[in-house]
Amino acid sequence: MLVMKFGGTSLDGAGKIFDLVDLVRDPGWKDKEIAVVVSAMGKTTSILRQAARRAAQGEMKEILSELEDLAERHRATALAIGRQNRGIDGVIGFIDSLFDELGHILRSIDVLGEMTPRAMDRISGAGERLSAPLVSLAFRVRGIDSEPVDAGEGLIVTDRTFGEASPDPDATRRNARALLEPLLSRGVIPVVTGFIGATPDGEPTTLGRSGSDYSAALIGAALDADEVWIWSDVDGILTADPKIVPHARVLENLSYITAAELASCGAEVLHPKTIRPLTAGKIPLRLKNSFNPSHGGTLISSRAGAHLPAIISSESLSLVNIKWEGEEWMPEITTGVLQRLARAGVKVLHFVQSAWQQGIGIVIRRSDSEAAVMAAAADSLTIGVRPEVATVSVIAPGVFLPAMAALDEAAVEVLALLQATADSGIIMVVPESGMPGLVNLLHGRLNATTPADRCEACPRAGTIGKRIGGAV
Ligand code: ASP
Ligand code: MG
Repeated sequence: MLVMKFGGTSLDGAGKIFDLVDLVRDPGWKDKEIAVVVSAMGKTTSILRQAARRAAQGEMKEILSELEDLAERHRATALAIGRQNRGIDGVIGFIDSLFDELGHILRSIDVLGEMTPRAMDRISGAGERLSAPLVSLAFRVRGIDSEPVDAGEGLIVTDRTFGEASPDPDATRRNARALLEPLLSRGVIPVVTGFIGATPDGEPTTLGRSGSDYSAALIGAALDADEVWIWSDVDGILTADPKIVPHARVLENLSYITAAELASCGAEVLHPKTIRPLTAGKIPLRLKNSFNPSHGGTLISSRAGAHLPAIISSESLSLVNIKWEGEEWMPEITTGVLQRLARAGVKVLHFVQSAWQQGIGIVIRRSDSEAAVMAAAADSLTIGVRPEVATVSVIAPGVFLPAMAALDEAAVEVLALLQATADSGIIMVVPESGMPGLVNLLHGRLNATTPADRCEACPRAGTIGKRIGGAV
């Protein structure tokens, strides 16, 4: 059997949702039992999270109208999918009651003036609870038996770390077998909510931003799937972002370890925790392009795959610099800041200790900047935000010297630097404007060191590479 996960862009509107249904029924794998895992439609999760934060700041009036727009978008999509279907009233009723529930929670946040991680999880997980019934409806409209499954209702069991909960694999496995296997064996396609779970006593939790990939892996592991497929709009993990390096190549085979490294550097197609549940059962993970379904994509498995190097670039980030007076490195200040950020739901992507001044640098998503500054603030601290920041991560053995040479040649300022403990990777925090040039230069240099790569797609890179070939 296969587990297939679809992200927000595959769910934007009825047309895209029917494309998803067609893809699941593709003749190439039509005979397999398939469980589908979905994330929320489009930007739903971010809108919900923003609403929760604003409710705590007393901006309830504006929020209610935004929420109504979101409800309308879901209702309109449901009607466009299945106006004639006999299940449509149930789906519309469900959407309305979920938005009523959200309204109540947001009002209580407004009254208390405080948003707890626990309340945040109730709110931010709503997007998946809304999208799963829509996708399931689309299957039924196409004459395929399907049922939505809320992973928070006795499927994915987690601890109480709201915002980034850890699943209990054994309980989840038992539940998945009891709940999903009977559906699959009857030919019913379960459409499971990604991203969410619940504590053993039923409190809703989330697995962390972009956590639907992780959900798919948990379910794949629980059901001993043949493979877990994550659909997106690229052919898999590439040697660099193709928007920046047009001749970037697909990495066809990656080991679990390398893929996990790439994901933790911010490879958007893969959530860092996704690999974990799959390694014990050696379940392969395949990243596939929904616009190019016959392409094999990137296969991540227990076999070694060595088609490196790979460059991962992430933009729309901020670097928050936090400094304090005094001579010494003070771990208690650092842990305090990190705890407050976690409580405010701000994800710390990278963290560096300043070597000379008493301070730390924290890389976060730019959209989290305001929340981060508010959460980190304390009397003894000076906080500055550098907003237009990107990271360029390179995974390859012996990458340090060529990376430094490329930085020098591209004349890009390094704002912070992180290196893997084993010499397999480096992460450079740079101004956003310098990122594309640096990525191109690095891609040319590093890829040109493999003889087979020199000629084909990137002759220019070949020449640059030969020049410094010995150093790499
Ligand atoms: N909808 C969630 C998020 O935006 C989970 C996901 O997309 O995988 O973070
Ligand atoms: Mg994703």
